Amino acid sequence: MAGIAPLLTAYLILVGLILGSFINLAADRLPRRESLMRPRSHCRSCGRQLNAVDLLPVLGYMLRGGRCATCRSPIGAFSPVVELTAGACMALAIAWLGLWPGAVIGLGLVALWGLAVTGLAMRRRLAA
Ligand SMILES: [Zn+2]
Repeated sequence: MAGIAPLLTAYLILVGLILGSFINLAADRLPRRESLMRPRSHCRSCGRQLNAVDLLPVLGYMLRGGRCATCRSPIGAFSPVVELTAGACMALAIAWLGLWPGAVIGLGLVALWGLAVTGLAMRRRLAA
């Protein structure tokens, strides 16, 4: 059992980061009343469909220097922060509580973070 815990922890933190990406997508699309499923993720400026490198949480942002690889328009520093925070929620909950119930608490924290971020995005859209 002990051998698999670090792998499982790494996997769960990755899940947290990927959920962070999804939070960014939701915060970007929900205020515009766009579908979360279609179209596939694309650059807002040039419309280029994002590939696997672009979609890597945090790492994709760093590899691209925070800009679209095609049109060089800035992605916004907020998106890797949202992803990192979601990953950190998971990491901290597991470090604090162990895999069980840390993973569940971590998911709960990520969900709250998602609600906060999308809620703020909706409000900003309404105010604009
Ligand atoms: Zn672009």
